[in-house]
Amino acid sequence: MTTHTPLADRSDAELTRFLLDQQQAYDELRAAGLRLDLTRGKPSPEQLDLSDELLRLPTSTRDRSGGDVRNYGGLEGLLELREIFAELLGTGPSQVIAGGNSSLSMMHSTIVDFLLHGGVESPRPWSQETPVRFICPVPGYDRHFSLLGSFDIEMVTVDMHPDGPDMAAVEALVRDDPTVKGIWLVPTYSNPTGAVVSQEIAARLAAMPTAAPDFTIFWDNAYAFHHLTEDETKSADILSLCAASGHPNRPIVFASTSKITYAGAGVALLASSEANIAWYLRHLSVASIGPDKVNQLRHVEFFGSADGVRAHMARHRAVLAPKFAAVDEALDAGLAGLGIAEWSHPTGGYFVNLDVLDGTASRVVALAKDAGIALTPAGASFPHGQDPRDRNIRLAPSFPGLDEVRTAMAGVATCVALAASEKVAADRGLRVGTATERA
Ligand code: PLP
Repeated sequence: MTTHTPLADRSDAELTRFLLDQQQAYDELRAAGLRLDLTRGKPSPEQLDLSDELLRLPTSTRDRSGGDVRNYGGLEGLLELREIFAELLGTGPSQVIAGGNSSLSMMHSTIVDFLLHGGVESPRPWSQETPVRFICPVPGYDRHFSLLGSFDIEMVTVDMHPDGPDMAAVEALVRDDPTVKGIWLVPTYSNPTGAVVSQEIAARLAAMPTAAPDFTIFWDNAYAFHHLTEDETKSADILSLCAASGHPNRPIVFASTSKITYAGAGVALLASSEANIAWYLRHLSVASIGPDKVNQLRHVEFFGSADGVRAHMARHRAVLAPKFAAVDEALDAGLAGLGIAEWSHPTGGYFVNLDVLDGTASRVVALAKDAGIALTPAGASFPHGQDPRDRNIRLAPSFPGLDEVRTAMAGVATCVALAASEKVAADRGLRVGTATERA
């Protein structure tokens, strides 16, 4: 037996020894009195500092056309900012709206508009149809699911693969069932798996026949520019693909500068067909007389151009990439070859997806919590927080410092190994006291 022999291949005596070693390592971890938090994908203070020039901007009160940005108006947002992000998102400025500080709010208001008014292609408001169903690739973004849950929209899960959702399942769901109204996708460096929707899958999403005429792709490109390597993955151009397939109104693209400048004071963006843009603005005009154009001008001055955004993202990469490398190193050092965990190696975005032995994710999170390491609750990346295999854990290494990430992840590896050896031992009927029992 080597230290890398899979647990399942070990004799009962070897497994018992391994479990006792993990219990001892865990006791030491608890005694260290850590206070570390890997729960949410927030930018670190060091990343926020990269944008502090914003605090001295804008230097002007006028936009390019001479409009006073301090006043009401300009519901669609400043043209010069829309130009920068239209270039980055691969579309034209007339197809982009720049809004407030949260793309999640734009997603929320879009769904409310569908429910109350119906969309451009809707025969009637969604609220007059029951049930309303959404396809939710899993694991996915917890807030997408809580948003749907708050409106009692049914969530039908499909597997998220490294190149996008399980398309055979998606196509089968949308083909004959008009209650299936939408799909969530985080197409680039997805939350939490880091998957990137391939060109081929995007083309199938664009072209597939759907029973619902108003089936909508919610293309939440929150991490479109958040590369962790020099190989800058380009997002599939869902707007053009859908237009070319005769479904121009099918996709609505969301993005924001939340993880580019300030998470709490950035600018959110929505891109879609001209008809959908007009629809969105019509409903928005009832709720707002115009966005925060001072903040938008501040961002225009700060970035200067699309290349300015790209250069800024390279500075984020320099801060983030070592933290992701530290996660990988710690998991590799503690768990490689044991056959009890698999994890993603994202080339962008904010998360590492950790799959532990089935039935042990909740135990890992509880053990980590007791040792002072806060992890996202097990199951958070599934609708209603229910991971049917209790194996998925989302790791968010962006916020803590590099040394803290190293310490926390070594601790997480210990918790994963302890929970797995407890489970394998219990499945074999071996009786070895758990750390909690001994505590
Ligand atoms: N979409 C995804 C996939 C996210 O991971 C997040 C934040 O974690 C958001 C949207 C939130 O975006 P915003 O800050 O623009 O509301």
